[in-house]
Amino acid sequence: MKVVKSRKIEKLHREIRNCKKCPLWKTRKNASPGEGPVNARIMIVGQAPGAEEDKVGRPFVGRAGQFLNQLLKLAKIKREKIFLTAPVHCFPPKNRKPTRQEIKACLPYLKKQIEIINPQKFILLGEVAFSVFFPDKKLNDFRGKWVKKNEKEYFPTYHPAAGMRFPKIGLRIKGYLYGQKTIELLIFLKSSSKIFLILGNLIPAAG
Ligand code: SF4
Repeated sequence: MKVVKSRKIEKLHREIRNCKKCPLWKTRKNASPGEGPVNARIMIVGQAPGAEEDKVGRPFVGRAGQFLNQLLKLAKIKREKIFLTAPVHCFPPKNRKPTRQEIKACLPYLKKQIEIINPQKFILLGEVAFSVFFPDKKLNDFRGKWVKKNEKEYFPTYHPAAGMRFPKIGLRIKGYLYGQKTIELLIFLKSSSKIFLILGNLIPAAG
């Protein structure tokens, strides 16, 4: 089963690396299809690759990625156990938000990844990730809570890049999550240049 899944993911990722379905292929250096185990129980969905991801074709390797690593480490979650991906796989120039057309063109790849991997839990980082799963809902109404939909669970939260840029966002996340029993703990602490986020009950779920 795992072998079959691996083959399907490899084929899909080859397709993504060669994709020309939207104009972003013209400016990308490398598409970043996503990475992680094909039997991951948790999928983290970001927005789109940044400049650093574009250089190497891997997700979350830039500053936001380092921040995410720090969060996962503090939470004792192994990054290798999570599948990291995004609704858009090529770098939008100047780090701009992907357009609706770009998201629409690229979204079938994410859907296919979900179909193959079949994760049970999703962590949605930021507005774009949230909007593709809940197009008719407002992120503000769901941020920091587990949401069930079609037998899957979703945890919408801020993108790490926002947490790095705006310390107040960290404090708001802290506020959301102190009351969450199912998640246990997600805490932002900011001290000088360092921001820490501790992820709680996602640890066993990451299994
Ligand atoms: S962003 Fe997605 S749809 Fe657009 S070229 Fe890249 S892989 Fe293809």
